Amino acid sequence: MDVLTPRTLDEALRLRSEHPDAWPIDGGTDVLVELNFDRARPPALLNLSEIRELKGWSRENGTLRLGAGLTYTQCRQDLRDVLPALAEASRTVGSPQIQNRGTLGGNLGTSSPAGDSLPPLLVEGAEVELASVRGERRVPLEEFLVGPKRNAMLANELIVAVRVSPSGARQTFMKVGPRNAMVIAVASLALSADRERGELRAAYGSAGPVPKLVTAPLAERASFAERVAEAAQPIDDVRGTAVYRRHALRVLTTRALERCAA
Ligand SMILES: Cc1cc2nc3c(=O)[nH]c(=O)nc-3n(C[C@H](O)[C@H](O)[C@H](O)COP(=O)(O)OP(=O)(O)OC[C@H]3O[C@@H](n4cnc5c(N)ncnc54)[C@H](O)[C@@H]3O)c2cc1C
Repeated sequence: MDVLTPRTLDEALRLRSEHPDAWPIDGGTDVLVELNFDRARPPALLNLSEIRELKGWSRENGTLRLGAGLTYTQCRQDLRDVLPALAEASRTVGSPQIQNRGTLGGNLGTSSPAGDSLPPLLVEGAEVELASVRGERRVPLEEFLVGPKRNAMLANELIVAVRVSPSGARQTFMKVGPRNAMVIAVASLALSADRERGELRAAYGSAGPVPKLVTAPLAERASFAERVAEAAQPIDDVRGTAVYRRHALRVLTTRALERCAA
């Protein structure tokens, strides 16, 4: 298998258009599982881990631009004050080793219904920045996620960054699993109580084909847990039943409201 290793974003975009069958890989924590279990054998890998433009994060006029190569360790350490729910979610991902390698771009690329960065980013109204040799475009995260492990990225595009304008609202992230580390969430929830917008915002994970945003006026706090549970579209699978997932969302929403809207 060929491994293409561009050093700049321009070079990466050129290689992406010349080799549309090559799989992008950054931290490799999802891709290598696919390869190791022989679930896929792409003709080539497009290694993005050497590209400076994809790393780190910056502030631009009140907006945060989180590079696709931003790791969970960096989110946990650097974004605790500005995006607390994302920082909390990052702390629950895998193990320290996975947090050191795994990236936001990779979580978006996989677009799993259980992707832990996705609910906190939905609550904050994030946009995904995509680029190709033809230029850039931005897609609201809600539109980017189109189905289980499916997204709106085209075959000639790469995820370059995620843009968020931090609300400053009190927010949190919680997930339910059989233990406290190294688990895929059975159900997860990010919630914010945005007093400026007068809005409760919650996004669930692992309880529908894609993580989804649910909102309500602050005054409807009493019925919000039920609304979130009703909005979910969970299924029965090896990790939990639909009934349990709805119940878990009710409990998580109630606890998150106690934390954020007290
Ligand atoms: C032991 C273990 C535990 C885990 N625990 C969790 C967990 O608790 N929560 C969770 O959400 N995930 C978990 N994961 C999954 C994984 O760590 C995350 O999804 C991570 O964010 C993937 O990032 P990565 O950089 O390693 O992606 P990669 O494996 O490099 O890529 C993942 C996908 O994204 C694509 N991709 C990567 N970067 C780009 C880009 N810039 N542009 C376009 N496409 C791109 C790749 O082609 C691939 O389809 C776990 C994985 C393992 C192995």
